[in-house]
Amino acid sequence: MNKRILIVDDNKTLVKLISKKLEAALDFQVDVAYSLAEAKLFLKMYDYFITLLDINLPDAPNGEIVDYAISKENRVIVLSGNIDKTFRESMLKKNIIDYVNKGGVDDINYIIQTIERLERNKNHTVLVVDDSMVFRKQMQALLQNMFFKVITVAHGEEALNYLKLHQEITLVLTDYNMPVMDGLELTYEIRKEQSKNDLAILAVSSNKDNEVNAIFLKAGANDFITKPFSKEEFSCRVNNTIEALENIQLITNHANRDYLTGLYNRRYFFEAMEKYEADIAETQENYAVAMIDIDHFKKINDKYGHDIGDKVITALSDILRTSTGHNDLVARFGGEEFCVVIKNISRDTALNIFERIRLEVEKYSYQLENEEFIKFTISIGVVLHEEDESLEETINNSDLMLYKAKNGGRNMVVSE
Ligand code: GH3
Ligand code: MG
Ligand code: MG
Repeated sequence: MNKRILIVDDNKTLVKLISKKLEAALDFQVDVAYSLAEAKLFLKMYDYFITLLDINLPDAPNGEIVDYAISKENRVIVLSGNIDKTFRESMLKKNIIDYVNKGGVDDINYIIQTIERLERNKNHTVLVVDDSMVFRKQMQALLQNMFFKVITVAHGEEALNYLKLHQEITLVLTDYNMPVMDGLELTYEIRKEQSKNDLAILAVSSNKDNEVNAIFLKAGANDFITKPFSKEEFSCRVNNTIEALENIQLITNHANRDYLTGLYNRRYFFEAMEKYEADIAETQENYAVAMIDIDHFKKINDKYGHDIGDKVITALSDILRTSTGHNDLVARFGGEEFCVVIKNISRDTALNIFERIRLEVEKYSYQLENEEFIKFTISIGVVLHEEDESLEETINNSDLMLYKAKNGGRNMVVSE
Protein backbone atom coordinates (compact mmCIF):
# COMPACT_ATOMS: atom_id res chain seq x y z
CA MET A 1 0.00 0.00 0.00
CA ASN A 2 1.26 3.41 -0.94
CA LYS A 3 1.81 5.83 1.91
CA ARG A 4 -0.27 8.97 1.53
CA ILE A 5 -0.21 12.59 2.58
CA LEU A 6 -3.24 14.86 2.43
CA ILE A 7 -2.89 18.59 1.86
CA VAL A 8 -5.94 20.78 2.43
CA ASP A 9 -5.69 24.42 1.42
CA ASP A 10 -7.79 26.67 -0.77
CA ASN A 11 -4.78 28.44 -2.29
CA LYS A 12 -4.48 26.28 -5.40
CA THR A 13 -1.13 27.60 -6.60
CA LEU A 14 0.47 27.06 -3.23
CA VAL A 15 -1.01 23.57 -2.85
CA LYS A 16 0.30 22.55 -6.26
CA LEU A 17 3.76 23.80 -5.37
CA ILE A 18 3.82 22.02 -2.02
CA SER A 19 2.48 18.75 -3.39
CA LYS A 20 4.96 18.77 -6.28
CA LYS A 21 7.87 19.35 -3.91
CA LEU A 22 6.71 16.70 -1.47
CA GLU A 23 6.26 14.10 -4.19
CA ALA A 24 9.71 14.85 -5.58
CA ALA A 25 11.42 14.59 -2.21
CA LEU A 26 9.46 11.82 -0.51
CA ASP A 27 8.14 8.42 -1.40
CA PHE A 28 4.52 9.39 -0.76
CA GLN A 29 1.36 9.74 -2.77
CA VAL A 30 0.02 13.26 -2.19
CA ASP A 31 -3.73 14.00 -2.30
CA VAL A 32 -5.06 17.53 -2.46
CA ALA A 33 -8.34 19.00 -1.19
CA TYR A 34 -9.47 22.64 -1.32
CA SER A 35 -12.22 22.62 1.32
CA LEU A 36 -13.33 20.86 4.49
CA ALA A 37 -16.07 19.05 2.56
CA GLU A 38 -13.57 17.66 0.05
CA ALA A 39 -11.12 16.77 2.79
CA LYS A 40 -13.80 14.77 4.59
CA LEU A 41 -14.27 12.61 1.49
CA PHE A 42 -10.54 11.89 1.26
CA LEU A 43 -10.27 11.14 4.97
CA LYS A 44 -13.09 8.60 4.64
CA MET A 45 -11.38 6.92 1.71
CA TYR A 46 -7.77 6.64 2.82
CA ASP A 47 -5.47 6.32 5.80
CA TYR A 48 -2.94 9.14 5.89
CA PHE A 49 0.56 9.16 7.30
CA ILE A 50 0.13 12.85 7.88
CA THR A 51 -2.29 15.64 6.96
CA LEU A 52 -1.21 19.22 6.23
CA LEU A 53 -4.12 21.48 7.03
CA ASP A 54 -4.86 25.12 6.32
CA ILE A 55 -6.88 26.68 9.13
CA ASN A 56 -8.69 29.16 6.98
CA LEU A 57 -10.88 27.35 4.44
CA PRO A 58 -13.97 28.72 2.64
CA ASP A 59 -16.26 26.31 4.51
CA ALA A 60 -14.19 26.21 7.74
CA PRO A 61 -12.65 29.60 8.54
CA ASN A 62 -11.53 28.94 12.14
CA GLY A 63 -9.45 25.81 12.07
CA GLU A 64 -12.48 23.49 12.31
CA ILE A 65 -10.72 21.04 10.03
CA VAL A 66 -8.00 20.48 12.64
CA ASP A 67 -10.49 19.22 15.21
CA TYR A 68 -12.22 17.12 12.59
CA ALA A 69 -8.99 15.44 11.40
CA ILE A 70 -7.81 14.80 14.96
CA SER A 71 -11.20 13.33 15.89
CA LYS A 72 -10.70 10.84 13.06
CA GLU A 73 -7.28 9.92 14.47
CA ASN A 74 -5.17 11.68 11.89
CA ARG A 75 -1.83 13.28 12.57
CA VAL A 76 -1.88 16.96 11.75
CA ILE A 77 0.61 19.62 10.73
CA VAL A 78 -1.09 23.00 10.69
CA LEU A 79 -0.23 25.25 7.74
CA SER A 80 -0.64 28.85 8.55
CA GLY A 81 0.02 32.30 7.24
CA ASN A 82 -1.08 33.58 10.62
CA ILE A 83 1.64 34.30 13.12
CA ASP A 84 -0.71 35.71 15.75
CA LYS A 85 0.69 34.50 19.08
CA THR A 86 -2.56 33.64 20.84
CA PHE A 87 -3.95 31.86 17.82
CA ARG A 88 -0.75 29.85 17.45
CA GLU A 89 -0.90 28.90 21.12
CA SER A 90 -4.52 27.83 20.84
CA MET A 91 -3.58 25.59 17.92
CA LEU A 92 -0.59 24.10 19.71
CA LYS A 93 -2.87 23.15 22.62
CA LYS A 94 -4.57 20.72 20.28
CA ASN A 95 -2.92 17.40 19.63
CA ILE A 96 -1.07 18.50 16.50
CA ILE A 97 2.42 17.52 15.40
CA ASP A 98 3.57 20.94 14.36
CA TYR A 99 2.49 24.41 13.34
CA VAL A 100 4.33 25.78 10.32
CA ASN A 101 4.24 28.80 8.13
CA LYS A 102 3.51 28.19 4.52
CA GLY A 103 5.13 31.18 2.91
CA GLY A 104 8.35 30.18 1.24
CA VAL A 105 10.62 27.47 -0.01
CA ASP A 106 12.30 27.17 3.38
CA ASP A 107 8.95 26.40 4.96
CA ILE A 108 8.32 23.61 2.47
CA ASN A 109 11.80 22.21 3.12
CA TYR A 110 11.04 22.31 6.83
CA ILE A 111 7.86 20.30 6.21
CA ILE A 112 9.81 17.74 4.19
CA GLN A 113 12.42 17.41 6.93
CA THR A 114 9.69 17.01 9.53
CA ILE A 115 8.03 14.20 7.58
CA GLU A 116 11.38 12.44 7.05
CA ARG A 117 12.08 12.76 10.77
CA LEU A 118 8.68 11.28 11.64
CA GLU A 119 9.29 8.35 9.31
CA ARG A 120 12.61 7.58 10.96
CA ASN A 121 11.07 7.91 14.42
CA LYS A 122 9.27 4.64 13.65
CA ASN A 123 12.65 2.90 14.05
CA HIS A 124 13.06 4.14 17.61
CA THR A 125 11.72 2.85 20.90
CA VAL A 126 11.55 5.34 23.77
CA LEU A 127 11.49 4.30 27.42
CA VAL A 128 9.54 6.77 29.59
CA VAL A 129 10.45 6.64 33.29
CA ASP A 130 8.17 8.60 35.60
CA ASP A 131 6.38 7.79 38.84
CA SER A 132 3.38 9.93 37.94
CA MET A 133 0.92 8.02 35.81
CA VAL A 134 -0.54 11.25 34.46
CA PHE A 135 2.87 12.33 33.15
CA ARG A 136 3.65 8.89 31.80
CA LYS A 137 0.42 8.87 29.83
CA GLN A 138 0.93 12.42 28.62
CA MET A 139 4.45 11.77 27.36
CA GLN A 140 3.42 8.47 25.85
CA ALA A 141 0.67 10.19 23.86
CA LEU A 142 3.04 12.91 22.65
CA LEU A 143 5.69 10.40 21.63
CA GLN A 144 3.27 8.06 19.91
CA ASN A 145 1.91 10.99 17.99
CA MET A 146 5.50 11.52 16.80
CA PHE A 147 5.53 7.88 15.59
CA PHE A 148 7.83 6.53 18.31
CA LYS A 149 7.29 3.14 19.88
CA VAL A 150 6.92 3.76 23.61
CA ILE A 151 7.45 1.72 26.78
CA THR A 152 6.57 3.29 30.17
CA VAL A 153 7.82 2.38 33.65
CA ALA A 154 7.40 3.95 37.12
CA HIS A 155 10.95 4.09 38.50
CA GLY A 156 14.64 3.64 37.78
CA GLU A 157 15.01 0.04 38.81
CA GLU A 158 12.18 -1.07 36.57
CA ALA A 159 13.82 0.97 33.81
CA LEU A 160 17.12 -0.91 34.17
CA ASN A 161 15.29 -4.23 33.90
CA TYR A 162 13.51 -3.12 30.75
CA LEU A 163 16.75 -1.88 29.21
CA LYS A 164 18.26 -5.33 29.60
CA LEU A 165 15.24 -6.93 27.95
CA HIS A 166 14.73 -4.35 25.21
CA GLN A 167 18.02 -3.65 23.49
CA GLU A 168 16.11 -1.81 20.78
CA ILE A 169 15.48 1.17 23.11
CA THR A 170 17.38 4.20 21.80
CA LEU A 171 16.11 6.97 24.08
CA VAL A 172 15.32 7.10 27.80
CA LEU A 173 13.17 9.97 29.04
CA THR A 174 13.53 10.08 32.78
CA ASP A 175 11.92 12.07 35.55
CA TYR A 176 14.14 13.19 38.45
CA ASN A 177 12.17 12.52 41.64
CA MET A 178 11.02 8.94 41.81
CA PRO A 179 10.85 6.30 44.54
CA VAL A 180 13.27 3.31 44.66
CA MET A 181 15.76 4.80 42.18
CA ASP A 182 15.62 8.41 41.00
CA GLY A 183 16.45 9.70 37.55
CA LEU A 184 19.97 10.76 38.41
CA GLU A 185 20.90 7.38 39.87
CA LEU A 186 19.34 5.78 36.82
CA THR A 187 21.52 7.95 34.57
CA TYR A 188 24.67 6.94 36.49
CA GLU A 189 23.70 3.26 36.25
CA ILE A 190 22.97 3.40 32.52
CA ARG A 191 26.24 5.17 31.79
CA LYS A 192 28.20 2.35 33.44
CA GLU A 193 27.04 0.19 30.53
CA GLN A 194 26.16 2.39 27.60
CA SER A 195 27.60 5.63 26.32
CA LYS A 196 25.83 8.76 25.10
CA ASN A 197 26.35 7.53 21.56
CA ASP A 198 24.68 4.18 22.14
CA LEU A 199 21.66 5.22 24.18
CA ALA A 200 20.38 8.77 24.61
CA ILE A 201 19.02 10.08 27.90
CA LEU A 202 16.74 13.08 28.16
CA ALA A 203 16.22 14.21 31.76
CA VAL A 204 12.90 15.74 32.75
CA SER A 205 13.17 17.87 35.86
CA SER A 206 10.79 20.34 37.43
CA ASN A 207 11.28 24.07 37.91
CA LYS A 208 12.06 23.61 41.57
CA ASP A 209 15.23 21.57 41.08
CA ASN A 210 17.05 24.04 38.89
CA GLU A 211 20.60 23.12 39.75
CA VAL A 212 19.90 19.48 38.94
CA ASN A 213 20.02 20.03 35.19
CA ALA A 214 23.76 20.59 35.16
CA ILE A 215 24.26 17.53 37.37
CA PHE A 216 22.20 15.49 34.94
CA LEU A 217 24.36 16.62 32.03
CA LYS A 218 27.55 15.81 33.93
CA ALA A 219 26.17 12.38 34.78
CA GLY A 220 25.80 11.71 31.06
CA ALA A 221 22.34 12.90 30.05
CA ASN A 222 22.31 14.05 26.42
CA ASP A 223 19.90 16.89 27.20
CA PHE A 224 17.26 17.97 29.71
CA ILE A 225 13.84 19.53 29.65
CA THR A 226 12.19 21.44 32.46
CA LYS A 227 8.59 20.86 33.54
CA PRO A 228 6.23 22.40 32.68
CA PHE A 229 7.22 22.39 29.02
CA SER A 230 5.43 23.27 25.83
CA LYS A 231 4.62 20.45 23.45
CA GLU A 232 6.70 22.22 20.85
CA GLU A 233 9.80 22.35 23.03
CA PHE A 234 9.28 18.73 23.98
CA SER A 235 9.14 17.51 20.40
CA CYS A 236 12.10 19.67 19.35
CA ARG A 237 14.30 18.37 22.17
CA VAL A 238 13.32 14.75 21.57
CA ASN A 239 13.83 15.03 17.82
CA ASN A 240 17.16 16.83 18.20
CA THR A 241 18.45 14.21 20.60
CA ILE A 242 17.42 11.36 18.32
CA GLU A 243 18.86 13.13 15.29
CA ALA A 244 22.24 13.63 16.97
CA LEU A 245 22.28 9.96 17.96
CA GLU A 246 21.48 8.89 14.41
CA ASN A 247 24.21 11.09 12.97
CA ILE A 248 26.84 9.68 15.31
CA GLN A 249 25.76 6.15 14.51
CA LEU A 250 25.94 6.93 10.80
CA ILE A 251 29.50 8.17 11.13
CA THR A 252 30.54 5.24 13.34
CA ASN A 253 29.03 2.87 10.81
CA HIS A 254 31.09 4.45 8.04
CA ALA A 255 34.24 4.03 10.10
CA ASN A 256 33.54 0.40 11.01
CA ARG A 257 32.27 -0.98 7.75
CA ASP A 258 33.61 -1.81 4.37
CA TYR A 259 32.14 0.45 1.72
CA LEU A 260 31.49 -2.16 -0.99
CA THR A 261 29.89 -4.92 1.07
CA GLY A 262 28.70 -3.23 4.25
CA LEU A 263 30.55 -5.92 6.21
CA TYR A 264 32.79 -4.97 9.12
CA ASN A 265 36.29 -3.88 8.13
CA ARG A 266 39.53 -5.30 9.45
CA ARG A 267 40.03 -2.50 11.97
CA TYR A 268 36.61 -2.96 13.55
CA PHE A 269 37.03 -6.73 13.53
CA PHE A 270 40.04 -6.52 15.85
CA GLU A 271 38.33 -3.94 18.05
CA ALA A 272 35.24 -6.14 18.41
CA MET A 273 37.35 -9.25 19.06
CA GLU A 274 39.21 -7.47 21.83
CA LYS A 275 35.89 -6.76 23.55
CA TYR A 276 34.70 -10.30 22.96
CA GLU A 277 37.87 -11.83 24.40
CA ALA A 278 37.47 -9.68 27.52
CA ASP A 279 33.84 -10.83 27.83
CA ILE A 280 34.77 -14.51 27.67
CA ALA A 281 37.86 -14.25 29.86
CA GLU A 282 35.96 -15.97 32.69
CA THR A 283 33.90 -18.51 30.78
CA GLN A 284 36.56 -19.49 28.25
CA GLU A 285 34.02 -20.38 25.60
CA ASN A 286 35.43 -21.63 22.31
CA TYR A 287 35.10 -19.81 19.04
CA ALA A 288 35.99 -20.70 15.47
CA VAL A 289 37.99 -18.50 13.13
CA ALA A 290 37.72 -19.03 9.39
CA MET A 291 39.72 -17.36 6.64
CA ILE A 292 37.82 -17.42 3.37
CA ASP A 293 39.14 -16.57 -0.09
CA ILE A 294 37.52 -16.68 -3.52
CA ASP A 295 39.16 -19.18 -5.88
CA HIS A 296 40.77 -17.85 -9.08
CA PHE A 297 39.09 -14.51 -8.56
CA LYS A 298 41.58 -12.85 -10.87
CA LYS A 299 40.09 -14.83 -13.77
CA ILE A 300 36.61 -13.45 -13.02
CA ASN A 301 38.00 -9.91 -13.07
CA ASP A 302 39.96 -10.55 -16.25
CA LYS A 303 37.05 -12.14 -18.09
CA TYR A 304 34.11 -10.00 -16.95
CA GLY A 305 35.66 -6.82 -15.64
CA HIS A 306 36.20 -5.27 -12.23
CA ASP A 307 32.55 -4.22 -11.75
CA ILE A 308 31.28 -7.76 -12.13
CA GLY A 309 34.09 -8.86 -9.81
CA ASP A 310 32.66 -6.45 -7.25
CA LYS A 311 29.20 -7.97 -7.69
CA VAL A 312 30.63 -11.41 -6.96
CA ILE A 313 32.31 -10.11 -3.81
CA THR A 314 28.98 -8.60 -2.70
CA ALA A 315 27.13 -11.84 -3.46
CA LEU A 316 29.57 -13.79 -1.31
CA SER A 317 29.19 -11.22 1.49
CA ASP A 318 25.43 -11.74 1.45
CA ILE A 319 25.85 -15.49 1.71
CA LEU A 320 28.27 -15.12 4.63
CA ARG A 321 25.96 -12.69 6.39
CA THR A 322 22.86 -14.85 6.06
CA SER A 323 24.69 -18.08 6.99
CA THR A 324 25.92 -16.74 10.34
CA GLY A 325 24.23 -15.57 13.52
CA HIS A 326 23.82 -11.92 14.41
CA ASN A 327 26.36 -12.28 17.24
CA ASP A 328 29.00 -13.75 14.96
CA LEU A 329 31.51 -11.53 13.18
CA VAL A 330 31.87 -11.35 9.43
CA ALA A 331 34.60 -9.05 8.17
CA ARG A 332 36.13 -8.25 4.82
CA PHE A 333 39.87 -8.21 5.43
CA GLY A 334 40.67 -6.92 1.97
CA GLY A 335 40.21 -7.79 -1.72
CA GLU A 336 38.42 -11.12 -1.95
CA GLU A 337 39.47 -12.28 1.50
CA PHE A 338 37.10 -12.58 4.47
CA CYS A 339 37.39 -13.55 8.09
CA VAL A 340 34.47 -15.08 9.96
CA VAL A 341 34.25 -15.75 13.69
CA ILE A 342 31.55 -18.08 14.98
CA LYS A 343 31.14 -17.63 18.71
CA ASN A 344 30.63 -20.27 21.39
CA ILE A 345 30.89 -23.28 19.12
CA SER A 346 32.45 -26.75 18.92
CA ARG A 347 34.88 -27.77 16.18
CA ASP A 348 32.41 -30.17 14.54
CA THR A 349 29.54 -27.72 14.43
CA ALA A 350 31.85 -25.04 13.05
CA LEU A 351 33.09 -27.37 10.33
CA ASN A 352 29.48 -28.19 9.41
CA ILE A 353 28.61 -24.52 9.12
CA PHE A 354 31.57 -23.75 6.86
CA GLU A 355 30.99 -26.83 4.74
CA ARG A 356 27.40 -25.63 4.25
CA ILE A 357 28.68 -22.19 3.26
CA ARG A 358 31.16 -23.71 0.80
CA LEU A 359 28.36 -25.77 -0.75
CA GLU A 360 25.98 -22.84 -0.94
CA VAL A 361 28.58 -20.80 -2.84
CA GLU A 362 29.23 -23.75 -5.16
CA LYS A 363 25.51 -23.94 -5.99
CA TYR A 364 25.10 -20.19 -6.41
CA SER A 365 25.27 -18.44 -9.78
CA TYR A 366 25.43 -14.75 -10.52
CA GLN A 367 23.30 -13.79 -13.52
CA LEU A 368 24.69 -11.26 -15.98
CA GLU A 369 22.52 -8.93 -18.02
CA ASN A 370 23.08 -11.09 -21.11
CA GLU A 371 21.56 -14.05 -19.22
CA GLU A 372 24.97 -15.70 -18.85
CA PHE A 373 25.68 -17.19 -15.41
CA ILE A 374 28.91 -16.79 -13.48
CA LYS A 375 29.86 -19.46 -11.00
CA PHE A 376 32.64 -19.33 -8.44
CA THR A 377 33.96 -21.28 -5.48
CA ILE A 378 35.70 -20.46 -2.21
CA SER A 379 38.42 -22.05 -0.10
CA ILE A 380 38.13 -21.99 3.69
CA GLY A 381 40.66 -22.54 6.48
CA VAL A 382 39.06 -23.13 9.89
CA VAL A 383 40.65 -23.19 13.34
CA LEU A 384 39.03 -23.55 16.74
CA HIS A 385 40.49 -20.98 19.12
CA GLU A 386 42.35 -22.64 22.01
CA GLU A 387 42.36 -21.09 25.48
CA ASP A 388 46.08 -20.32 25.65
CA GLU A 389 46.37 -19.04 22.08
CA SER A 390 46.32 -15.40 21.03
CA LEU A 391 43.85 -14.22 18.41
CA GLU A 392 46.75 -13.45 16.06
CA GLU A 393 48.04 -17.01 16.38
CA THR A 394 44.59 -18.43 15.67
CA ILE A 395 44.21 -16.22 12.61
CA ASN A 396 47.67 -17.20 11.36
CA ASN A 397 46.74 -20.85 11.78
CA SER A 398 43.52 -20.47 9.85
CA ASP A 399 45.50 -18.67 7.14
CA LEU A 400 47.76 -21.72 7.01
CA MET A 401 44.71 -23.98 6.66
CA LEU A 402 43.43 -21.75 3.87
CA TYR A 403 46.79 -22.12 2.12
CA LYS A 404 46.43 -25.91 2.42
CA ALA A 405 42.92 -25.72 0.96
CA LYS A 406 44.28 -23.78 -2.02
CA ASN A 407 47.09 -26.27 -2.52
CA GLY A 408 44.74 -29.19 -2.06
CA GLY A 409 42.75 -28.16 -5.13
CA ARG A 410 40.54 -25.27 -3.84
CA ASN A 411 36.74 -25.35 -3.22
CA MET A 412 37.27 -27.10 0.12
CA VAL A 413 37.22 -26.56 3.89
CA VAL A 414 40.45 -27.48 5.69
CA SER A 415 40.90 -27.64 9.45
CA GLU A 416 43.75 -28.78 11.70
P1 GH3 B 1 43.42 -17.95 -5.63
O1 GH3 B 1 42.46 -19.01 -5.96
O2 GH3 B 1 44.80 -18.47 -5.41
O3 GH3 B 1 42.96 -17.13 -4.48
O4 GH3 B 1 43.52 -17.00 -6.91
P2 GH3 B 1 42.99 -15.55 -7.08
O5 GH3 B 1 43.00 -15.16 -8.50
O6 GH3 B 1 41.63 -15.46 -6.41
O7 GH3 B 1 43.96 -14.71 -6.18
P3 GH3 B 1 44.90 -13.48 -6.47
O8 GH3 B 1 45.35 -13.04 -5.12
O9 GH3 B 1 45.95 -13.83 -7.48
O10 GH3 B 1 43.97 -12.38 -7.09
C1 GH3 B 1 43.04 -11.68 -6.37
C2 GH3 B 1 42.50 -10.62 -7.25
O11 GH3 B 1 41.44 -9.90 -6.63
C3 GH3 B 1 43.53 -9.57 -7.62
C4 GH3 B 1 42.84 -8.25 -7.43
O12 GH3 B 1 42.92 -7.44 -8.58
C5 GH3 B 1 41.41 -8.62 -7.20
N1 GH3 B 1 40.73 -7.70 -6.27
C6 GH3 B 1 41.16 -7.30 -5.06
N2 GH3 B 1 40.24 -6.47 -4.50
C7 GH3 B 1 39.22 -6.36 -5.39
C8 GH3 B 1 37.98 -5.64 -5.40
O13 GH3 B 1 37.61 -4.92 -4.45
N3 GH3 B 1 37.18 -5.78 -6.48
C9 GH3 B 1 37.54 -6.54 -7.53
N4 GH3 B 1 36.69 -6.64 -8.57
N5 GH3 B 1 38.70 -7.22 -7.56
C10 GH3 B 1 39.53 -7.15 -6.52
MG1 MG C 1 8.30 12.49 40.07
MG1 MG D 1 41.55 -15.66 -4.30
